[in-house]
Amino acid sequence: MTFKMVRQFVPALLGTALGVVAGCLVVDATADGAAAQTDQPGLYLDLDEIRAIADRVRAGRSLQPAAWPNGARVAVMMSFDVDNDTITIARNAEPSIGAMSQGEYGARVGLRRVVDLMDRHGIPASFFIPAVSLVLRPEMVDVIQASGRHEFAVHGWIHELNSALDAETERDLVVRATNYLEQATGRRPVGYRAPSWDFSPNTLDIIRGLGFLYDSSLMADDRPYELLQNGEPTGMVELPVEWILDDAPLMNPRGNSYTPPRELLQVYIDEFDKAYEEGTMFLLTTHPHVIGHRSRMVILEELIDHIKARGDVWFATHEQVARYVKEQAGL
Ligand SMILES: [Zn+2]
Repeated sequence: MTFKMVRQFVPALLGTALGVVAGCLVVDATADGAAAQTDQPGLYLDLDEIRAIADRVRAGRSLQPAAWPNGARVAVMMSFDVDNDTITIARNAEPSIGAMSQGEYGARVGLRRVVDLMDRHGIPASFFIPAVSLVLRPEMVDVIQASGRHEFAVHGWIHELNSALDAETERDLVVRATNYLEQATGRRPVGYRAPSWDFSPNTLDIIRGLGFLYDSSLMADDRPYELLQNGEPTGMVELPVEWILDDAPLMNPRGNSYTPPRELLQVYIDEFDKAYEEGTMFLLTTHPHVIGHRSRMVILEELIDHIKARGDVWFATHEQVARYVKEQAGL
């Protein structure tokens, strides 16, 4: 598998070849990845070691229910990751003022647009928010809470990269973030999404220990599933994501995977139509500072119109879906 290096956010912290950064994949800068891939430690592992690594966190049984509530054909989850300027601040010794202003757009403009759209359509959505995002812009709480319909969920303290942290530091940041969201919103969050979907070998232990209901950072299916840890069922619900259903990497006009919004709309529609046909779930991850621009809001509106026109759809927060599938599975 080959990825190209995209972006302005290079993870200086990591210093490794592999990282998932700011909605972007960063691996190597070569054309095919082969030349830079000189270090291949997997070659020297025996099969038991390989199995142990692969089994650290795996997809267990499907939690796809026999039916969705009220006879709906498909569950639709709208995720908004309210990163704003946290990534820029977290990952740069001298954060660029220009890049921070690009994130600030999310708080000033984008968030209101996406909340307006959801509220106009009566759609419940889930807002995954790095705590520092709320520290810097506490007024976002009221904007999101006004309808009483949306969920707040944990998305790191300052959009930290978990895989660059030791277990204790990673845990402390999740605890701080969760406590801050509880205090700021009046309700303890039950959902977790790793910043940049960067799930460390310790993340599952940490979120299990803290009693989270679900995670939404991994990609082993397009139906809900139970996470296994070292081969054992955990009771943790996974609501899977995918880069193809994320606005950030493909909508960066300076990235080399830039895709015009109207082309992306077709991908989203095709993903939804197949989910509808299969009777499974559709989960779209977008960011107010990305999707909240005028030419992107157009496609979000068109997508909602398309979904609504199909009918028999259950729009729900991630929490509602996680509770439902867990109960249906007798977990
Ligand atoms: Zn994020």
